[in-house]
Amino acid sequence: MFTTHLESRLTELYSEMVSLRRHFHQYPEVSFQEVETPKMIARYLRELGIEVREKVGGNGVVGRIRGGDGPTIALRADFDALPIQDVKDVPYRSKVNGVMHACGHDGHTAMLLVLAKVLTETDLPGDVVLIHQFAEELAPGGAKPMIEDGCLDGVDYVFGAHLWTPLPFGTVGVKHGPIMAASDRFELIIRGKGGHGAIPQHTVDALMVAVNVAGQLQQIISRRTDPLEPAVLTIGTFSSGQAFNVIAEEARLSGTVRTFTTHTQERIIKEMERVIAATCDASDATYELEYIRGYPAVVNHPTETELIRRVASNVIGADGVVDLAPLMVGEDFAYYLQHVPGCFFFTGAGNPECAAVFPHHHPRFDIDERSMLHTAQILLGALRSTWTAHEKED
Ligand code: MN
Repeated sequence: MFTTHLESRLTELYSEMVSLRRHFHQYPEVSFQEVETPKMIARYLRELGIEVREKVGGNGVVGRIRGGDGPTIALRADFDALPIQDVKDVPYRSKVNGVMHACGHDGHTAMLLVLAKVLTETDLPGDVVLIHQFAEELAPGGAKPMIEDGCLDGVDYVFGAHLWTPLPFGTVGVKHGPIMAASDRFELIIRGKGGHGAIPQHTVDALMVAVNVAGQLQQIISRRTDPLEPAVLTIGTFSSGQAFNVIAEEARLSGTVRTFTTHTQERIIKEMERVIAATCDASDATYELEYIRGYPAVVNHPTETELIRRVASNVIGADGVVDLAPLMVGEDFAYYLQHVPGCFFFTGAGNPECAAVFPHHHPRFDIDERSMLHTAQILLGALRSTWTAHEKED
């Protein structure tokens, strides 16, 4: 039956988790170009006798471990890497030039594979669906097409986690409600009328209009948004002009907007259009704005979040469970939570004693690998608690 024996099996298999993670770490593949990683995942699961569907929604892999007629629970791990050069000095450094697992998705994958192995060694009260997701790092992402391709069909609950170096090893961050922001992108072209740098009166200086627009856009958050409502508007690129004595015909800006509610998101979009239109109009310039909605906000469900909090305190001790402040970064786990109740939590993976702590997406990023074991133990506990709670209801 489903006993504590499984927890000790996870600990026994920790070294396999590490070697799988280090393999993925050495052979990273960027979003939407994953080929070998999903093949290896599918092979591993098939060898365990697990039913596997490949190419789900693109490069996704979905395994299903059959159990009793209790609730079906999905566990998700993403497996894509980033276009970053790995400059760490470790034996398992990336062997692929310019590509690196700089977000810990290698650890997510290794952790879930070994957890799957342990789950096949017992009778389960319900089915477990293993969602191995491609392309989390790059919108439109892999979650949406995988859901459209049926990865959540018949699923009652979903859980996922991120190994997280800003949190010290030995802690877990969790919070109900909005925990990660909706992350959108915009591209703006401003068109004026170029000309001689000495004769401005016959031109429309696109560069100067863009400077004004940039300043105005910054005021949408600082002056027109409730200070207690988290939101970010960042202009990440600004390019204009070709020569020192020529007035620019065109300026191009791009940026990102992060919000937690649809209300704030829609209001900011409207304000942006208003401010850009008015500023351009006042200067006789024209514009083209493309606003691309990215991942929605990750919103954790209260009951499942409470469950994770309880289970995590059993695994790492109550002192280690911290209330996480909402993060302005995005995650396409958001889509799963729009369909079924569940929780996304953060396992502390930062530890200066085993690797200098660098932020996610840094070229020296690394994790305390024992955070994988914590994550697997918590997910195992989440399965157990969900099924137990359901038995009591019956
Ligand atoms: Mn990530």
